Amino acid sequence: MAGLKIRNLKKSFGGNAVINNISFDVREGEFCILLGPSGCGKTTVLRLIAGLEHQDEGEIFIGDREVSGLTPGERDIAMVFQSYALYPHLSVYENMAFPLKIKKRPREETDRKVREAAGLLGIEELLHRKPKELSGGQRQRVAIGRAIVRNPELFLFDEPLSNLDAKLRGSMRVELAKLHQKLGATMVYVTHDQVEAMTLGEKIILLDRGEIQQTGTPRQIYEKPSNLFVATFIGSPPINLLRGRIIMEGGRIFFSSGELLIDTGSREELQQYAGREVTMGIRPESLTPGDGPVKGRVELVEHLGAETLVYVRVDGTRVIAKASPDFERKPGEEISLALSDTGIHFFCNGHRIGRP
Ligand code: ATP
Repeated sequence: MAGLKIRNLKKSFGGNAVINNISFDVREGEFCILLGPSGCGKTTVLRLIAGLEHQDEGEIFIGDREVSGLTPGERDIAMVFQSYALYPHLSVYENMAFPLKIKKRPREETDRKVREAAGLLGIEELLHRKPKELSGGQRQRVAIGRAIVRNPELFLFDEPLSNLDAKLRGSMRVELAKLHQKLGATMVYVTHDQVEAMTLGEKIILLDRGEIQQTGTPRQIYEKPSNLFVATFIGSPPINLLRGRIIMEGGRIFFSSGELLIDTGSREELQQYAGREVTMGIRPESLTPGDGPVKGRVELVEHLGAETLVYVRVDGTRVIAKASPDFERKPGEEISLALSDTGIHFFCNGHRIGRP
């Protein structure tokens, strides 16, 4: 097991810069998520680490070794793909034993490692079956088992759960988190699913168009998004955005947008933006029905069981508020919404205003 260090990585395909000067660290034993929209370059970063592509510039260290000049086989990495990539004519046991067979490891050692990994993953009874006799979730477990038996320095996962249905994805997510705790292995995991990233990751690296937008724990990224892209990418339902202006009146700082005038209280960091256009971001859970400054008309009420989402038209913009399960208002009715102190963010020219 080893940590990973990426320095100033650049990669272009046919003159198009796909990875644009990326640097990050993954601690030994850390579960790190590469998150971002389709096409942002996540898989390319993973393939560069694995040695399946070669960077134009930059260095990749696994532990203290600079691996850029090494073949994939020499890097001591195990990669698990979305498409399980199992050998159809081999049994589960033979698929899992395959990496050790290639390395000509003794039969007893191979047998012990395969059975240990099968035990960890709860697939002991499936060892004699062929891949076609398995469900999607079971196949993915075999692919992970094959990675485990190699005891690599580093695990790389490329959207391993995206072929599974929503329920199975949820339970495999829990199992992967448990597996990481048991193995204590260094893992880099690619996904475009922010829920997966928030629940699995110790560290999230959020990419867009080949550049890192923010690195942090799930909480840091949710609570202090460094720009508008991060604020809107993370969070479900998404953050509400209102465009307006900062104005000073009687020594107080207000956010003004159409009919709306919101007293920002003690947000001194806004003072220097007086008179300028800004965007106010409000997390849905920070906007609740009650006596407050946001007035609008109910468009739709979604009862989800544990909570209720209320879609409200405010001055030409739709916002989503969270209400309790017993919320009873009809579309068309007028409503006031209150704001909480947390979950409110201001951005100017796309960048967060205030301390990082
Ligand atoms: P997805 O979630 O859709 O898999 P991603 O974030 O993993 O997306 P990449 O697969 O890394 O994105 O691709 C990043 C960009 O590089 C895309 O625009 C893609 O078309 C381009 N690209 C990737 N591999 C190659 C290649 N071998 N040749 C040319 N362009 C490529």
